[in-house]
Amino acid sequence: MAITFDDLPYSIAGDPEAQNTLDAARDANASILAALDHRRAPATGFVVERRVRALGQMGEILLAPWNQGHLELGNHSFGHRDSNDLSLDEFRREVTDGEATIDPMVRKAGRSLRFFRFPYNHVGDTADRREAFETVLRERGYRIAASTIDTSDYLFDAAHEHALTVGDEDMRQRIETAYLDYSRTEIAYYADLNRQVLGCEPPAVMLLHLNRINASVMDRLLEIFQASGYRFASLDEAQAHPAYASSPRFVTKFGPMWGYRWARDQGVKVDGSKEQEPPAWIVSYGKTPTP
Ligand SMILES: [Zn+2]
Repeated sequence: MAITFDDLPYSIAGDPEAQNTLDAARDANASILAALDHRRAPATGFVVERRVRALGQMGEILLAPWNQGHLELGNHSFGHRDSNDLSLDEFRREVTDGEATIDPMVRKAGRSLRFFRFPYNHVGDTADRREAFETVLRERGYRIAASTIDTSDYLFDAAHEHALTVGDEDMRQRIETAYLDYSRTEIAYYADLNRQVLGCEPPAVMLLHLNRINASVMDRLLEIFQASGYRFASLDEAQAHPAYASSPRFVTKFGPMWGYRWARDQGVKVDGSKEQEPPAWIVSYGKTPTP
């Protein structure tokens, strides 16, 4: 299975409500990188150029370790706009402007940018638009980064951020536990879904964000995968499996995981309502206004 992080260098850098982002961004990156190193897990980090700029000089500095060894930088667009709202020209600009910092970095390291992940996993809301987007990406040497496991980590992170803001340590730990429990459930759910749809379990691709809840639990989260028998691979190795030979054809304006898309392509009926939702208390706590 492959681990991927979206919204590098830091998921809330540049957001109006984000405070003390420089320290938080540095600490979150350091913790996540240490856990990846400790578990010998390769990973791909998908960069939003707007968030790089929001951190000033620190932005590129934080990306440097992601451009070495088993780690790899990918493009997650310039401004994280929803491709459903973009013309083809606007989409092309989001891709090329998204390369501003990372393309020179990877070239200097003798590498190239190989993967693009669509914001919200919105890969094109009609067959024509999806094909046009794919052509733009192919011409620039990209493959689409798949996503097969999602734990709604951003919802847990919003709750975690609130607990940090109000200094409620008991609550923060309860949120972490709930997040790890839910991750366990989702990892098993998507493994079953993919097996049911494809008759085999291709290497999984875990979608995470570069945020503080992941920084806090990353070693424990990776341990869950190892305890479940998974072996860590790079995204490139994972997507070498024939299941990823082409992107799913099913067209939607939403951003479901690949298992649901494969199900539609294969004509396999699956009941998405069986997927457990994140706990309601997490969602509501994460929406509590900051005092
Ligand atoms: Zn994103």
